Amino acid sequence: MVPLFFHSESGETRFVLLNKALCEACWDCVEKCHRQVIDKIDFWFHRHARIVAPDLCTGCLKCVKACASGALTAKTQAIRMLTEH
Ligand code: SF4
Ligand code: SF4
Repeated sequence: MVPLFFHSESGETRFVLLNKALCEACWDCVEKCHRQVIDKIDFWFHRHARIVAPDLCTGCLKCVKACASGALTAKTQAIRMLTEH
């Protein structure tokens, strides 16, 4: 088993990017994501969101809208796809 602090700390899906350096560990994105794409690292001073199941992301962007710190952003193609349909 990989220790918690060795897991990937930043991440992305086809639709969203996570910059963990900007994450304020509010967990709003974790609560909003209906596919459990995002999880928490909550270990002492080491606290931020992380992408754990990128393939399950549907591009709903609820996590991006919930993130007040700007840690989660929509990729350009996600914005294009969502505005074209
Ligand atoms: S875009 Fe939607 S499905 Fe993808 S991580 Fe964000 S809330 Fe979850
Ligand atoms: S909503 Fe933003 S600041 Fe809050 S846990 Fe998610 S990525 Fe971090």
